[in-house]
Amino acid sequence: MSEPSSCPLCAALADPQQHWGARQVWAFPHSVAVLGPWQYYTGYCLLVSREHVTELSQLGARRTPFLEEMALLAEAIEACFQPHKLNYELLGNQVPHLHWHLFPRYADDPQSRQPVWLALNRAENEPQERHRLEAGFLPPSESVARLQRWLREHGAPRGSERESEADGGAAEPQKRRGSGEPVP
Ligand SMILES: [Zn+2]
Repeated sequence: MSEPSSCPLCAALADPQQHWGARQVWAFPHSVAVLGPWQYYTGYCLLVSREHVTELSQLGARRTPFLEEMALLAEAIEACFQPHKLNYELLGNQVPHLHWHLFPRYADDPQSRQPVWLALNRAENEPQERHRLEAGFLPPSESVARLQRWLREHGAPRGSERESEADGGAAEPQKRRGSGEPVP
């Protein structure tokens, strides 16, 4: 597995507690799920491939389990937060390390028919808008706990060899707040 020193997601995967802290939702065998910073979209998660590749086509035989982990996380978000619609985005234009954005969309969002990036671009330059989109309707710890409960109850696969060595493969992430930095 290549881990370019300049890749922020490789750096985060090398030390998930430091980077994501209590926002880490689930350590799957092929990916790590993290509650994202834009919790106006309650339950918004990132799913980061454990492998530094830029395209799905580069995962080979690991593509199917990676996609299954994404679909399972999507199902958890649907079950826990009952959005009007879920948006699946695999971009990587700014951080070319395979990661999904799973954005739940809600009917009371006045811009529910537009891509979230229009609002998020505005938030870059407008502190009030940034705060509104980050704040959300639930504390992040509650959203993480709901997702973890659902995934546990549905037998979501866990961990990698590295994770298993670190925490026995079954322990919950420690409750420590990460930086929650947005990942474009
Ligand atoms: Zn990377």
